[in-house]
Amino acid sequence: MDQKVSESHTLQHYDLYIDGRDVPCDRTMESLNPYNGQPWAVVPDAREEHMDAAVAAARRAFDEGPWGRMTATQRGALMRKLADIIARDAEELAQIECRDNGKLYREMLGQWRYIPEYFYYFAGMADKLQGDVVPSDRTNFFIYTRREPVGVVGAITPWNSPGLLLTFKLAPGLAAGCTFVVKPSEHTPVSTLELGKRFKEAGFPDGVYNVVTGQGALGAALVRHPGIDKIAFTGATDTGKKIAASAASNLTRVSLELGGKSPNIVFDDADLDVAANGAIAGIFGATGQTCMAGSRLLVQESVHDALLDRIVERTKQIRLGNPMDAETEMGPVANEPQFRKVLDYIEIARSEGGTLCYGGQRDPDLGGFFVQPTILSNITNDMRIAREEVFGPVLSVIKFRDEEEAVRIANDTRFGLAAAVWTKNIHRAHRVAHRLRAGTVWINAYRVVSFLTPFGGYKESGLGRENGADAIREYTETKSVYVELTGEPRDPFKLG
Ligand code: NAD
Repeated sequence: MDQKVSESHTLQHYDLYIDGRDVPCDRTMESLNPYNGQPWAVVPDAREEHMDAAVAAARRAFDEGPWGRMTATQRGALMRKLADIIARDAEELAQIECRDNGKLYREMLGQWRYIPEYFYYFAGMADKLQGDVVPSDRTNFFIYTRREPVGVVGAITPWNSPGLLLTFKLAPGLAAGCTFVVKPSEHTPVSTLELGKRFKEAGFPDGVYNVVTGQGALGAALVRHPGIDKIAFTGATDTGKKIAASAASNLTRVSLELGGKSPNIVFDDADLDVAANGAIAGIFGATGQTCMAGSRLLVQESVHDALLDRIVERTKQIRLGNPMDAETEMGPVANEPQFRKVLDYIEIARSEGGTLCYGGQRDPDLGGFFVQPTILSNITNDMRIAREEVFGPVLSVIKFRDEEEAVRIANDTRFGLAAAVWTKNIHRAHRVAHRLRAGTVWINAYRVVSFLTPFGGYKESGLGRENGADAIREYTETKSVYVELTGEPRDPFKLG
């Protein structure tokens, strides 16, 4: 890859994308490259009037524009074109996201190369979204249902995987026939803006996809906006709760993909080399900045030391560095508040009695927002480090005696996004998977997602599911249509 491009100091300037046009904004904000702490892009800090214009454009496109009159087959064809364009531009989009959030180029490129699959999958579903003919309990009625698009969707996304998490919303929503106003994270707005011209190139009518960039307050304005029919949100649990409360005032539909404190459970009959590898993938992949991070490693006491030794040995070899370099395994933390939060949590864990086995500090050589991959043992599940989401490269190791205790500790959390079980015992593997209160459970694996498989959280990890065939339901309303067959008048004072 072209290093000069990746480290260019030329500031890129972006406008808002509203109603198929680039719309300038008098207020701006900078997007920083977390690797060098330098601004690399200037993006709009939109005002509420821009939000109003974006919602109005999305509403027009939905109610009056050619989008609303298209067949589902035509919508699917546009989505396939968009997917082809994204596949063509995957490298460029991945570079942009690396600059914005500091994650590894190979991780972001993998995501952008995978994103087209989501659009192809849901494009295929667009014209298979069928209603039902409902059996009637009256001879004079024919009854059927229609699956109609929910309307204008406000999508609000976080900084860790901006394009992928937006795609989780766009692909089923466009297939259903919705239009979108997107508010990306203030830390990583550029790839979402960049998609605008690709929607245009694919031939989407103006107003189907609109982007307003700004801070959290702009997201809050989007949630309150009476022109929005549904909010699709990915982000922190506390933000999700505020969104649900605010959306309630208009009964705006919400789907929420929120935080986690996922247990990664290793039993004494597991292959310890493979489990150690899985523990590393679970917490140090993406610098631990994933909602599904396996941040609580639950280890059966008889293999605790043997597993910990393996994990520490591999962790010592993790190569920190420039996210653009192919050899780098862990990039920086994405922004300064997050960097400080991670270091604070390490101190909190130590002050509560956790033992630092490895890491624990900012990286002494790299500076910037680099935190060493950190492993803490002697953690008990009541400590803050075991209860609160850190969203960084910090592993808490917790011992357990037996299966019963493992399940109890695993479920003793307000979150329920993901979990993993490592064992060679097939009975135990499924038994434990069934008892875990989490939206995704991996058996002898970690951090696998697919467009085919529902993803979402139990408890405070969310509301609703993304991906998989059912995700399209989150973007539709069901309408029941009663057709009277005789033309005869009926008793006007009797129901039915
Ligand atoms: P965040 O909640 O701070 O911000 C997410 C988005 O919400 C941003 O665009 C932000 O500007 C906006 N926002 C902030 N306050 C708002 C408000 N009051 N009303 C409306 N919008 C508001 O989250 P983050 O720090 O960007 O991302 C990290 C969090 O996201 C972590 O908790 C992580 O677990 C979660 N996450 C969840 C998933 C999932 O699928 N479950 C995936 C990735 C990240």
